[in-house]
Amino acid sequence: MRSTDINARETFENGTVSISSSSWWQAQAAPDYAPLDADIEADIAVVGAGLAGASVALHLAERGIKTVLLEALQPANGASGRNAGHVQAYLDDIRPLQSWPDRGEKLLDYFINHRNIVFDMCRKHNIFADQCHAGAIELAGKGHKSLYEKQEFWRRKGYDVSVVTGDELKERVRGHGYTHGLYWRDGGRVNPYLFTTGMVRVAAGLGARVFGNSPVLSCEKQTGSWRLQCPRGTVNARKVVLCTNGHWGNRFFPILARTQYPLVACALATNSVPSALLDEINPTRAALTQYPLGLYPLIMDGRDKMITATIPFKGDAANPERYFNYFLKYLGKAFPVTRDFDIRLENYWTGVTASSSHVYHQDYAKLYRPDEDIFALMNIGTWGNVMGPLLGMNLAHALAEERYQDLVLPVEKPRQVYFQGLLDLKIKRLLVPLSRAAERLGVA
Ligand SMILES: Cc1cc2nc3c(=O)[nH]c(=O)nc-3n(C[C@H](O)[C@H](O)[C@H](O)COP(=O)(O)OP(=O)(O)OC[C@H]3O[C@@H](n4cnc5c(N)ncnc54)[C@H](O)[C@@H]3O)c2cc1C
Repeated sequence: MRSTDINARETFENGTVSISSSSWWQAQAAPDYAPLDADIEADIAVVGAGLAGASVALHLAERGIKTVLLEALQPANGASGRNAGHVQAYLDDIRPLQSWPDRGEKLLDYFINHRNIVFDMCRKHNIFADQCHAGAIELAGKGHKSLYEKQEFWRRKGYDVSVVTGDELKERVRGHGYTHGLYWRDGGRVNPYLFTTGMVRVAAGLGARVFGNSPVLSCEKQTGSWRLQCPRGTVNARKVVLCTNGHWGNRFFPILARTQYPLVACALATNSVPSALLDEINPTRAALTQYPLGLYPLIMDGRDKMITATIPFKGDAANPERYFNYFLKYLGKAFPVTRDFDIRLENYWTGVTASSSHVYHQDYAKLYRPDEDIFALMNIGTWGNVMGPLLGMNLAHALAEERYQDLVLPVEKPRQVYFQGLLDLKIKRLLVPLSRAAERLGVA
C-alpha cells in the first residue's frame, strides 16, 4: 500500500477523514472563515465550532455579549458535520441522572421543554438545513415490554408517543419482520453540517467574531482575563468556553482530554433513489431505528438519499464496501421492494465522539470548570443534535446573566477516567458482533 493510502486509512480509523467525504458537506459547503491574525478582546471566547460551540456563540451574541468563536479547522468539520442526522427528542436511559445532586430534574425539564430546539432554531433564524420534523419510529420484531414502559414514561412527561402495530404501523413503515413500532411525534432529521454552519452564520450576523483555521494553542491566565494564543493572533477574554468535544491534541487543560471514552463511528449515504420507493417504505420520512439492536439507524433526506451509521470493526474503518454490504443486506431483508432498485454507495465517512461513560446510552454530556472563568461543555456523546444546541443555549444564558444556578448540568472538576478504550472495546468487540449474530439468527 502506498504511504498516502496508509495516511488515508489512518484518517478513517481515527475519524478525521476530510469533511468533504461526508454527504452532508456535499450538499453545500459553507464559506470559509478567515484565520485570526490580530490581537483582539472579547467578553467571552468560545473554542470549537461544532453543535455545542456554535450554539453557545449564537446565544451569547443574541444577548449582546462580545463573543469570539475560534475553530481549529472550519465550523462543523468535527463530529457535528459527520453525524447520522437523527434528531432524537427523548432520552434513552435516565437512570444515570439519579446520582446527580438534583436527580437530573433540571436537565430533564429543560430537555423536554426544548426537545424541538433544532426545528425551533431553524425557524427562528432562517436556517435551511434540510430539517424535517417528521418524528421517529423505533421498529421492533416483537412487543417488548420495555417499549410499552418507555411509552408510559414519556407520555407522563407530555410526549405524543405510541406503540403502533398492524395497519397503523403499515401506514407509517412498510417493513418486513417488524410487528411493533414506537412512534414519536417529535424528532426527525436534519443535515447537521448545514445546521451547525447555519448557527455559526447567525452568530456572526448577531455580532460574534468567527475565525476558522485558528487552533487555540495555549490558554493562559492574566490579571482579570485569559489569553488565548492562535498561530497568528491572540484573544484576551474575561471568560472562556471550551467546546472541543474530546479535547484531543490540546495542550492546555490536558486533564480534559482524559475525561472521556472516544468512539469512532462511520456513516454512509446512498445515491438518490426514486422518491416513489421511499414513499412506499417510509411515506412520512420519519427517522427510523431498530429496537433494541439499533444497527441501522436510517434517514431519508431531502435529496432522497438513504443515510445510515454504524460502528466499524477495529482496523476496518477504511472499508466502505463492508458496511455498505451490511446495509444493503438489511435493506433487502427489511424492505424487500428495495431489491428491485439500483442502490449505490455514494459517500462514506467516519467521525469520533467523546462519551462520558463506557456504558452506551448513559453518555450524558459534562460541564467542567477547570478554573474559575473556564467552562468546558464536552463529552456530548452519541446524541448531539439536540443536546449540543440545547446545552449550549443553557450555558450561554447562564453566563450572560451570571445565573449559574440555572445550569442544568452539574458543574464538575475534570476527573480522569481509566482505560479510555473501554467503550470502543465493548462496542466493537462485544456489542456489534453480538448484535450482528443476533440479526443473522433472527433472535433480536
Ligand atoms: C458517525 C457519527 C454519527 C452520529 N450520529 C448522530 C445522530 O444521528 N444524531 C445525533 O444527535 N448525534 C449523532 N452523533 C453525535 C454528534 O455528532 C456529537 O454528539 C456532536 O457532534 C458533538 O458536538 P461537539 O460540538 O461537542 O463536537 P465537535 O462537532 O467535534 O466540535 C468540536 C470542535 O472543536 C474544534 N477544536 C478542538 N480543539 C480546538 C482548538 N484547540 N482550537 C480551536 N478549535 C478546536 C474541532 O475542530 C471541532 O470542530 C454522531 C456522531 C458520529 C461521529
